[in-house]
Amino acid sequence: MISVEEAQTIILQLVDSLQQMETISLDEATGRILAQPISSPLNFPYWDNSAMDGYGVRFEDVQGCSSEHPITLDIITEVPAGSNPNRSIQSGEACRIFTGAMLPDGVDTIIMQENTYQEGKKVMILSPPKYCGEFVRKQGSFYQAGDILLNPGISINEAEMAVLATAQCSSIQVYRRPRVAILSTGNELITPTETLQPGQIIDSNQYALKAFIIKNGGIPICLGIVQDQPNIIKQKIIEAINTADFVLSTGGVSVGDYDYIDKILAELGGKIKINSVAMKPGKPLTVAKFDNGCVYFGLPGNPVSALVSCWRLVKLALEKLSGIKGDYQPKFITAISHDDLSSNGQRETYIWGQLKLINGEYIFSLAKGSQNSANLINLALTNALAILPIGVTKISQGERVKVLLL
Ligand code: AMP
Ligand code: MG
Repeated sequence: MISVEEAQTIILQLVDSLQQMETISLDEATGRILAQPISSPLNFPYWDNSAMDGYGVRFEDVQGCSSEHPITLDIITEVPAGSNPNRSIQSGEACRIFTGAMLPDGVDTIIMQENTYQEGKKVMILSPPKYCGEFVRKQGSFYQAGDILLNPGISINEAEMAVLATAQCSSIQVYRRPRVAILSTGNELITPTETLQPGQIIDSNQYALKAFIIKNGGIPICLGIVQDQPNIIKQKIIEAINTADFVLSTGGVSVGDYDYIDKILAELGGKIKINSVAMKPGKPLTVAKFDNGCVYFGLPGNPVSALVSCWRLVKLALEKLSGIKGDYQPKFITAISHDDLSSNGQRETYIWGQLKLINGEYIFSLAKGSQNSANLINLALTNALAILPIGVTKISQGERVKVLLL
């Protein structure tokens, strides 16, 4: 049995990042992975503009003024945001100007409205600017035309959308989304719409994994329930590896009489790189690579085990596959445990619960109820997993514990 850390290394080595791109519109870009460098032929700000509602002046005109000795300037024009100023400001003159409006020629400084007094077509400046250029957003001061704005391999979220819009990128090259096939193996399984008969179990894994794939930017290809019959499983796996970049199956990777997955993968030419990992839950985990590049994850059937394996290991693989440039490391933090946590110390133990920030400290609270890998009920609302390393059997309430953020 290999360690979780070793499993992570092996899995990441197996995965190649997608190279295929597609062109999409800006409207569709949220959550996608950028595949091209972005730059703009325009400076940002596009032109000198005002950061305040106030008056545009010449710095040299207003030095030394004060509320006792204001300097009075003639207001010769008004520049609202969006207008193209057509008059230039000479010595002794000012313009009324509003936030975001382009500066007229001659104006080098903005006096905020609060430091002025307007009477008719004249404005009194009651306090001098601190420096020439105060409250001016200079053309190109945020970004110089032609420089790189965004690099490939980043995830496009709110702020990146704003940049892409500003750079007028109406269509964008992104990596295509990873295609991930999901199949649930087990004679006992039924769909949520079927009527439960004694001995049966509802296939919850299909839904859990589908959500996991969607949340991580992939396209789930749901292949449904497959009976524990080698020929049927084989046909489904052939279909899966020919249509998907990754395959996630649940069940059938343990040591039971109906656990056929490993044997079938080998028969189909899959190179099995992992068959069990020293973690709890999640010990049975089969990872195989096929010649067409498809990576197969045979996850344990127990609902908690399947998700813990996804959160700890498959997530990083999916990140790399998707084209994200990064270090593909899990997000660990240290928290204070609200409860006593225990393990038999033999495998790296993942305990589910909730992390909350309380008075500036991260507090991990154990999920109430049974920490049993079949207990999908108290897994709901889990946002973190506390980790007890091999050899550690107890972490007491109030002690620090390593936590995986989900
Ligand atoms: P297995 O690894 O196939 O032996 O399955 C282990 C346990 O997980 C069994 O109790 C199964 O009933 C349960 N299980 C397997 N597949 C699923 C599934 N798709 N949804 C919910 N429970 C499952
Ligand atoms: Mg089974």
